[in-house]
Amino acid sequence: MWTVNSFELPLNTVKDILDVSAESFTDKTEHGFRLCNNYTYNSTPGTTPLDPGTKCTGEVCEIDLSKSVCGIGGHYSTDRGDFHTHPAATSNPSAGDLLSLIWGTYKHGKRIDCRAGQRDKSLTCDYVEDAPEHPYNSDVINQLGSAYSTLSGDYTKYIDPFYAEWKRTGNCPVEANYPGFRETYDRIVRIGNGLTKRKSISFFNLSENIPIEEEKERKKKESLELSRAKVDEWLGRSIGGRSMDGGINETERKSDYPRTMQDCDTKYSIQQVRDMCKKLGISGSGAKKKICNDLIRTASLRGV
Ligand SMILES: [Zn+2]
Repeated sequence: MWTVNSFELPLNTVKDILDVSAESFTDKTEHGFRLCNNYTYNSTPGTTPLDPGTKCTGEVCEIDLSKSVCGIGGHYSTDRGDFHTHPAATSNPSAGDLLSLIWGTYKHGKRIDCRAGQRDKSLTCDYVEDAPEHPYNSDVINQLGSAYSTLSGDYTKYIDPFYAEWKRTGNCPVEANYPGFRETYDRIVRIGNGLTKRKSISFFNLSENIPIEEEKERKKKESLELSRAKVDEWLGRSIGGRSMDGGINETERKSDYPRTMQDCDTKYSIQQVRDMCKKLGISGSGAKKKICNDLIRTASLRGV
């Protein structure tokens, strides 16, 4: 978990950032996704984790994140930031990145803009420190609005043609062929830096918690497998016992596995479930449900 401007980037987002960066640095195109605040009606906006939106791939010098969608899995969701890669540069923001953060904050309120840099192997996020949650009429919002309207015209005039050429050829053009480019670029960066704050973390530090979390996940999975094997073993023994007693055949044995929760409910008596609980070391009010789930899963795993 990494926190910036009170937004939290949880492990799943950090993992996606690292995965997407590795892909991008290999295929030399910009990749990215929206950072989405999935919420419920009673969660606090801005403090809940930012989850990844759908992933996008752009060009060598540009990515359009409007195609990245928030609300995966049917969540209520608001986009509160952007993440994209710089496959041939550092994680510092380009003039365009700063402009889009200024515009985004002006239009939607407090947010972050993050980039992963191939050269510095770091994640860097920018934000407007005093931006309100919502873009109501305030000094900060008005300042961002007027900065954007002053700078965006020059960006279109002097910088867009440079990137259009880069996108067309796949090679970074020669700056000297674009009069006004450098002056405009540096001015936007200077003004943008004055309006924003920045926080950086190396990939190494960002990923340091992942092995621990993965080990936890592996152990959890292993214990699930173990309980599945135990149920299977118990069921085999139980059916085997009956088989010896009553000469049960293979067809009947298969039909002993429940297929649904209801099936399981009617198939096993309370006493049988108690016995199973005891053998499996399971207790608590959800024990029967857990056993039924395990049995249904076992049946589908064994294809019976
Ligand atoms: Zn960028």
